[in-house]
Amino acid sequence: MDLSFSPAEERFRADLRAWLEANPPGAEPDRLDLAVAHGKAWQGKLYEAGWCGVHWPKQYGGRGASLIEQIIFQEEMARARSPQLVNLAGLTMGGPVLIAHGTEEQKQRHLQSILSAKEIWCQGFSEPNAGSDLAALKTRAVLDGDSFVVNGQKVWTSFARYADWCMLLVRTDPEVPKHKGITFLLVDMHTPGVTVRPLKQISGDEDFNEVFFEDVRVPRANVIGKINAGWDIAITTLMHERQTLTFNRQLQSRVALNQLLAMARRHPTTRPAARQPLLRQKLAAAYIDSEAMKYTALRNLTKVLRGGEPGPEGSIEKLFWSEMYQRLLETAVEIEGPYGQLLKASPYAVEEGIWPHLMLYSRGRTIAAGSSEIQRNIIAERVLGLPRMR
Ligand SMILES: Cc1cc2nc3c(=O)[nH]c(=O)nc-3n(C[C@H](O)[C@H](O)[C@H](O)COP(=O)(O)OP(=O)(O)OC[C@H]3O[C@@H](n4cnc5c(N)ncnc54)[C@H](O)[C@@H]3O)c2cc1C
Repeated sequence: MDLSFSPAEERFRADLRAWLEANPPGAEPDRLDLAVAHGKAWQGKLYEAGWCGVHWPKQYGGRGASLIEQIIFQEEMARARSPQLVNLAGLTMGGPVLIAHGTEEQKQRHLQSILSAKEIWCQGFSEPNAGSDLAALKTRAVLDGDSFVVNGQKVWTSFARYADWCMLLVRTDPEVPKHKGITFLLVDMHTPGVTVRPLKQISGDEDFNEVFFEDVRVPRANVIGKINAGWDIAITTLMHERQTLTFNRQLQSRVALNQLLAMARRHPTTRPAARQPLLRQKLAAAYIDSEAMKYTALRNLTKVLRGGEPGPEGSIEKLFWSEMYQRLLETAVEIEGPYGQLLKASPYAVEEGIWPHLMLYSRGRTIAAGSSEIQRNIIAERVLGLPRMR
């Protein structure tokens, strides 16, 4: 694996760094609706300047650059302390899925508005009785003329309240084996019959939701791929979700680690936390975790650069990151001692005083995008080739 960057890649980094210094992301508001508005303006500005969709094709508003430049983009965004881009589901799942499986018309219609954050996307996969066993989903879509009529319920749909489009998995044939009767539909969230109810989380946030569909009419032209062939597309979507977010996650946790080390050096616990042997060991372990994650991500990236699609190896990164991030945040709260009980509500920025908030929020990381148990099953069966559990 070659870990150095080419002169063109270094130029790309320097240009982006200069742009970010001239156009800093600004402090993110605490309240979710204001944070979403701020995020839309910030992503729109990046798009106008040509920095969004770095490795998406130029004809759809991207920059047509390499995956390496996309990673440099993420590194520089983390360095500039940018918040997570607001249209996360569109950028990491919706766009890549449309590029791979969408019709030309669908690509023309959606890709630029995903990049500019003019339209926000959400992922309507999970249901009350279909999470890990996603193929058990029951939301029904029945063809009626040129449109489907959708009835059912989704749950845990992140950002549905602010979303314009939903990647919706529906059952279109209940008579065949469960994986074979699923269709991947794009649903306009403003269609009559769609109701969104926010859910309050342990951290106090309300960024995921229940979504109800009551006789919602969706044009047949909004099918991605073929009718009843949505399962394979859903799996590609999840692999993109697990793998393409890796560098983001790794950088997010590295930023948090740097903040944690700075806090450990000065925090007024009984004596400086950085000098307590047990805490020092935890801090060193957090650093080692972060490095191990970086090199594992690079190894998997090398595979993708050599022509592969994101594969089940993304589960290794997702599993490792979600557990190491929780350990890191627990160490931060431990260092804070009694201060660790004070909660400041902002899910995004890493600042002293919001560690307990991040720690509580991170509990969901080992569940979202497939729980740790499910990732272990995937690694066992599809990476290590072990026999299936009976
Ligand atoms: C922060 C957050 C954001 C989310 N955002 C979205 C979103 O935007 N869109 C969306 O569609 N979904 C979203 N989800 C839902 C998420 O994908 C599901 O919660 C997840 O897939 C688990 O499903 P479940 O909650 O139904 O749990 P269940 O599937 O009921 O699992 C319950 C427990 O049983 C274990 N288990 C289940 N099956 C097995 C097995 N075969 N082997 C071993 N253990 C097993 C699980 O690991 C878990 O511990 C989000 C979840 C979170 C926490």
